[in-house]
Amino acid sequence: MLVVVVLFATVLLRAAIVTTFVYFMLPAKRACPRCGAQLALIHHSLLRWLLPAVEHRWCLDCGWSGVVRVQSRVIRRAARS
Ligand SMILES: [Zn+2]
Repeated sequence: MLVVVVLFATVLLRAAIVTTFVYFMLPAKRACPRCGAQLALIHHSLLRWLLPAVEHRWCLDCGWSGVVRVQSRVIRRAARS
């Protein structure tokens, strides 16, 4: 039984490492990674509920669509001022 718990813990640890790595690979800016234009937010109620740390955005200029990190409140305040 101990072997199963240890193996399950290593699987969970690997999943956490991969999730963290993928999260930090996502673009954090509100600018398109292809052309640099502003991105429009696409609301997904299920995505917001399941993964509140990411949001789906779409570029109106070049058509790029993808998932980006949600900016923290501190960064948003600094960008406004
Ligand atoms: Zn673009």
